[in-house]
Amino acid sequence: MLGRWFLFPLCQLLGAALGWLFGGQSGALLGVLVGGLLFLAFDSRRLFRLQRWLRAVQQADLQDLSTIPESLQPPATGLWGDLADRMRRLLRSRDRARWDSQSRLDELLAAMQASPNGVVLLDAQGRIEWCNLTAVQHFGFDAQRDLQQYAVNLVREPAFSAYLAAGDFSGDVVIAGRASTPSRPVKLSLHVHAYGEGRRLLLSRDITAVELAEAMRRDFVANVSHEIRTPLTVLAGFVETLQTLQLTEAERSRYLGLMAQQSQRMQTLVSDLLTLSRLEGSPLPGRHEWISVATLLGQCEQEVRALSANLFTQGHKIVFSIDGDADISGVPLELYSALSNLVTNAVRYTPSPGTVQVHWRVLPDGQGEFAVVDSGPGIAPEHLPRLTERFYRVDRSRSRETGGTGLGLAIVKHVAQRHGAELHIQSQLGHGSRFSIVFPASRIRMLHALKVA
Ligand code: ADP
Repeated sequence: MLGRWFLFPLCQLLGAALGWLFGGQSGALLGVLVGGLLFLAFDSRRLFRLQRWLRAVQQADLQDLSTIPESLQPPATGLWGDLADRMRRLLRSRDRARWDSQSRLDELLAAMQASPNGVVLLDAQGRIEWCNLTAVQHFGFDAQRDLQQYAVNLVREPAFSAYLAAGDFSGDVVIAGRASTPSRPVKLSLHVHAYGEGRRLLLSRDITAVELAEAMRRDFVANVSHEIRTPLTVLAGFVETLQTLQLTEAERSRYLGLMAQQSQRMQTLVSDLLTLSRLEGSPLPGRHEWISVATLLGQCEQEVRALSANLFTQGHKIVFSIDGDADISGVPLELYSALSNLVTNAVRYTPSPGTVQVHWRVLPDGQGEFAVVDSGPGIAPEHLPRLTERFYRVDRSRSRETGGTGLGLAIVKHVAQRHGAELHIQSQLGHGSRFSIVFPASRIRMLHALKVA
């Protein structure tokens, strides 16, 4: 700045000196004027360069001022050079701040993108400003095309429109997801949070699994209550009879026998329920404990022969066979419980005189198979996929008569899954059934080939 104050009079002085030399006093006056004008012309040119550079900065990529060509650079010295320098620094710090806030915004959007919930930003009019990929899946939006569209026009659910219109966002609203079909319903829970000036944040959560689990829990509790209530009602009836009626000794002992039967039924139910809950709660079976197949089958055989003799006057033809003696790794109690459930089912549902064959073999690929084959009534195909559901029974009265709880096959399936095995059911009405559990080769340890018939 000081330079300018010095340069301007210097130009005039030089002009005056030159004018004086060539034209005397009037020449000196003209020299002052020309000197001043020359300075102004020179200065305006520098100002013009600065202005041209600023225009170029406006059009150029602000991230990189060095992209501006040399010919458009501002003066490097003097007042205008100093101004250009300050502007350059200001622009750089503004760019840096802008870049920082942009990268923070990108990070924030990436975090919202990573959210397992659907996130939709709505403006004050309810138009979509941004949405993440989960929201795209939940609502079937197009992340680009549907921007600035009204959310209520795209989510055509009256409950959602009513929820937005009411403006009371203290609770949430449940609607069907875009991918929902009658056979595979998808439930979404939506919650809106107001923010900024009239803006809204719409969060969506897939609650299909939660709802399913809740429905299963309700069914389970209802089933258990029902299963316990029936024997309990019978027991209460007998207790009342014993308390109020004068009975003969024979009648008393008959009623006590029936009461014992009902309490046994409840005990079996509770024991099966505990088995199931243990299976669900305990860690997966390791591979360090081995049990011999012969021992397992031996225990089962004793139990099943006693059951057959107990249930039927003329027992079944029961055949146990082992093809390839081996050990299985797993939890012995669980393995026994699974096998015992299959074998006792075969005896319970096969009218006598029928046959029940229990067979163990090691398959060519090293897997091991327990198969229980009976000559019973067989099961209609529509029941097969549901047999392992808790409390699912084909013949309710037959199950009850023979002490069934409706949990046996659910236990078998659980045990099989925990041991990495598969439960296969083949059955045909009138032609008996075949239940088998196939264990992976990694759980089988061969001993020696042995045949027991
Ligand atoms: P339950 O305690 O009632 O036997 P399960 O879970 O063991 O319950 O079996 C479910 C249903 O599958 C039974 O109620 C029965 O109808 C059918 N079932 C199971 N095993 C056989 C079989 N070997 N033959 C015919 N039906 C069977």
